[in-house]
Amino acid sequence: MKFARVALAVPLMRLFDYALPDGLLPEVGARVIVPFGTQKRIGIVVALPEQSDLPVEQLKTVIEILDQQPIFSASMWNLLHWAASYYQAPLGDALFSALPVKLRNGESAVQKPKIFWKLTALGQEALASGVLTKAKKQFAAASALAKSPLEKGNNEFNAAIWSALKEKQYIDTFEQPVQPISWQQRLQDEPIVKAENRLLLNKQQSLALGRLLFQQGFGAFLLDGVTGSGKTEIYLQLIEETLKKGKQVLVLVPEIGLTPQTVQRFRSRFNVEIDVLHSNLNDTQRLDVWQRARTGQSAVIIGTRSAIFTPFSELGLIVIDEEHDASFKQQEGWRYHARDLAVVYAKQLNIPIVMGSATPSLETLNNVRNGKYQHIVLSQRAGNASMVQSQLIDLKKQQVVNGLSSTLLKKMDEQLQNGNQVLLFLNRRGFAPALLCHECGWIATCAHCDKPLTYHQHQRAMRCHHCSSQKPIPRQCGDCGSTHLVTTGLGTEQLEQTLKERFPQYRITRIDRDSTARKGKLESHLEDIRQGKSQILIGTQMLAKGHHFPNVTLVALINVDSSLFSVDFRAEERLAQLYVQVAGRAGRAEKQGEVVLQTHYPEHPLLQRLLTAGYHAFADDALKMRHTMGLPPFSAQALFKAQSRKSQEAEQLLNDIAAYFYQWKQAKNQPHLQILGAMPAPFAKKADYFRWQLLLQHPSRAWLQAALTDFHQQWEHKSSQVRLNLDVDPQDLS
Ligand code: ADP
Ligand code: ZN
Ligand code: ZN
Repeated sequence: MKFARVALAVPLMRLFDYALPDGLLPEVGARVIVPFGTQKRIGIVVALPEQSDLPVEQLKTVIEILDQQPIFSASMWNLLHWAASYYQAPLGDALFSALPVKLRNGESAVQKPKIFWKLTALGQEALASGVLTKAKKQFAAASALAKSPLEKGNNEFNAAIWSALKEKQYIDTFEQPVQPISWQQRLQDEPIVKAENRLLLNKQQSLALGRLLFQQGFGAFLLDGVTGSGKTEIYLQLIEETLKKGKQVLVLVPEIGLTPQTVQRFRSRFNVEIDVLHSNLNDTQRLDVWQRARTGQSAVIIGTRSAIFTPFSELGLIVIDEEHDASFKQQEGWRYHARDLAVVYAKQLNIPIVMGSATPSLETLNNVRNGKYQHIVLSQRAGNASMVQSQLIDLKKQQVVNGLSSTLLKKMDEQLQNGNQVLLFLNRRGFAPALLCHECGWIATCAHCDKPLTYHQHQRAMRCHHCSSQKPIPRQCGDCGSTHLVTTGLGTEQLEQTLKERFPQYRITRIDRDSTARKGKLESHLEDIRQGKSQILIGTQMLAKGHHFPNVTLVALINVDSSLFSVDFRAEERLAQLYVQVAGRAGRAEKQGEVVLQTHYPEHPLLQRLLTAGYHAFADDALKMRHTMGLPPFSAQALFKAQSRKSQEAEQLLNDIAAYFYQWKQAKNQPHLQILGAMPAPFAKKADYFRWQLLLQHPSRAWLQAALTDFHQQWEHKSSQVRLNLDVDPQDLS
């Protein structure tokens, strides 16, 4: 007799055994429906053991088998098992989150016929006679159908429009079976590349490509090249060679980097099927991409972090652009790092992986040093752009008005008069980060987070940037009643207002989450900038990546001090990366660019190193410091986080866990295990929840893993009101 051992999407570190009725024998890796409590749930069969740990009478029975075949490929199955164990996540969480939502909910994994909308004869008449012109959207949808049918649920018009048209019998559906035509078949006689768009590589690029092509099987490469050195061109030519061997390619990009321009660059190079996985896809579209990759219909998938879970029929290469980017780390649920998973995956599949960056993460640079990754350097810009100059402005020695020093204003004047654009970075949206009482020092704070509310002048509101709460702007101090309230600190909104007064003759575009909240706003703002309609650009780091503004000749980081003195040991690395990124924005065309940083601490050694000797010298120094202090990548970390409405409960739980590890440390004779906490998180309260954390650190990753594994096997989770989660290799200690 066999049993089904099943993983469920529940946050428990265990599997569940079920009996199998006669004649029902699922494959390992197939989905099944099982009873769970009083409900039915979808589970994934992970083993078919001969025996169960529970007495047979206590076992419930599998209700239905959903898949005749395993739903995961063998390699993805192995990867997810590895990941669940490394990141100490419930296997069910890892397996389920790798599936498109529709499959999690039980939809068939066999590709169904597609349903399309078409215009009926009545609809054609209506369109011709003009009765629809008043209902603008319906008219647009019907007009689109007049050109060609559109797939139901996979088009730009929303469902309400279609049902209105259907109601009037103007449209109808029809089915079309999907024939999984491979991307090669679809090409027919067309060549893989549109060769006229291919660039002739310079010497450095040719050498780099040569090394990459020479690689047989697994190899991890850091393509370390300054912005504009032609990394993307190398990816494209490497992808070309991979496609020529009949293999597919996965390209991972940061969230912010997945712009229409990026995708366009790939599409204009290749004639092959390219699919994009981004956050705006609906569930139908996601399932479609999943099917297309799995059945070999698409040749290239470009996507953000979770695209690592795309199944491929024959993957031959993984490319990760901007490998240092923080968005590759998943920060909710089970917290994997897509770059690190991708390296493990490439190794399993025995294929090359290329990680590109102008500012490699310290982790990656360390992996180069210890020989795990091969290093390919591109030191020159490929186009004819010249390198930028940079300068530190000492705010202590200047007249400063609303964050702007007189030196910076003078430089802006010069560049603007010459017809150039100027870009200012400030990582704080809103008008001012706080509103305070001039008489007694009272500060308007969020009642749910204990943090100052941000003053938003334009929306006439005080908003909390940590939870979504909002309040009217107070007229009086909440303590002494004084009406003398003043803003303090500087946000993008205020910067915009100050600059409007100072430079009335120029147009300003501000790009932050507030100014781009409405759909299409970001694109239209970017277009204004590209066309030169606005001359002064203000942005948060949304603006730092992926956008090319050839007429920007001056970039300023308005205030870098908060990064120099942060509780997060990665803050300096991030500042250095931001600096290099924005420097890459300046003077990309023929024009010479300049970057300035405003600070009260121009003598800061890492800042000096960065500006005088460049990112790699900075990284060397920063790595030395990390080494001295025993911080990652010279140690491994794991962070327990607990949240509760009752602060004491969260603290207690973490203290209990800390006690477990103190015991473990003794028992295993591991004096190098550091146990830090329980302590309040840097954001000690968020949306009414009190947050505590416990950090574990060990020079050996293997030992830390062993400690965590023992913990999960031995720790008894008492049900409590505390939300607990564990972040292995945390990127963000807040
Ligand atoms: P990166 O990805 O390193 O930022 P890109 O591949 O985007 O660099 O190249 C930067 C610019 O230089 C692009 O406009 C690109 O078209 C151009 N470029 C890249 N390689 C070459 C080359 N070999 N010859 C001429 N121009 C090139
Ligand atoms: Zn007061
Ligand atoms: Zn709040």
